[in-house]
Amino acid sequence: MKKASELQRCIRCTIPETFPNISFNEKGLCEYCQETPDSKDLESERNQLQALMEAEIEKSRGKGEYDCIVAYSGGKDSTYTLMHLTKHYNLNCLAVTIDNDFMSSQAVKNCYIVTEALGVDFLMFKPAPSFMMNMYKTSITTGGVQNQAAIKRVSSVCNSCINLINNYMIKLALLHEAPIVAGGYIGGQVPKNASMLNMNLIQREQLKKPLLEKYNSLFGQGSSKFFFIKDSLISNANRNSVTIINPMLTLSIGEEDIITAIKDLGWIKPQDTGRNSSNCLLNDLGVAIHYKKHKFHAYEFEVAEQVRYGLMDRELGLKKVTEIPDFSELTDQMDKVGLALSEI
Ligand SMILES: [Zn+2]
Repeated sequence: MKKASELQRCIRCTIPETFPNISFNEKGLCEYCQETPDSKDLESERNQLQALMEAEIEKSRGKGEYDCIVAYSGGKDSTYTLMHLTKHYNLNCLAVTIDNDFMSSQAVKNCYIVTEALGVDFLMFKPAPSFMMNMYKTSITTGGVQNQAAIKRVSSVCNSCINLINNYMIKLALLHEAPIVAGGYIGGQVPKNASMLNMNLIQREQLKKPLLEKYNSLFGQGSSKFFFIKDSLISNANRNSVTIINPMLTLSIGEEDIITAIKDLGWIKPQDTGRNSSNCLLNDLGVAIHYKKHKFHAYEFEVAEQVRYGLMDRELGLKKVTEIPDFSELTDQMDKVGLALSEI
């Protein structure tokens, strides 16, 4: 197997030859870079997305106990998102963190420091570690419930966790009559239209229903509370839809500027979370497994887009996607999840 540093990559962004269905022209430019609008058009596209999101924010303000539930990991992007929503848009936010039992202790501290500095209500929810470890192990050994499209953007470990987090945020939005759920996704992590999406929850649950058995058989009976929303919760709420926003998709800001801005809140970068995360100690295991299985780094799409749009230096981008963590450095995480090397 080729090392990540030996792969042929787009000469402009960083996308590698092993990325699913990728093609390059004779100059070595990938198909995404060939189609990328110039910076002026990109800016006007961002402004349009921002205007749509802002109209929705104004429509939603003051309609519930909170304006917005913010999925807050304590990492740099969701910290910036929470700050932006609170300070720039003056929204009444509830910051919610899921403790997956793999949070860096500095990330936990950051959650408390930042929410206190911003003066927002904060909720930490910790699902039973026994459930989470089984979910992680099963996601690694079977691929979990990840579809082909998601494989391009995220590891199987993160995919399950994200599903659980999203579901919990929507539940809280219903409980607190909050019209908006916000995430801290940046360009490349999710499609651009995730800057503002109206989600019909009745439709969402209907579409997911056929998967209930799969979830139960993979993650155990009782897993439905983490991944599904009961009809009664929707019918008892004053709404059957929520608006999902990801404000970072409407901004042109890179990693360095994000970190500089949030340091003013007292945020400190954890040193133990690897190259691609600023909160989670399990992330590197997901990355290593993703590379072994799919032959490209789980962050390729995100990093390539950041580089392509001028938000990340190409050298830094290359570092982020060519240094694959070695399983020998991940024995603590594997032991905790209950995974032997032979099972990968
Ligand atoms: Zn490219």
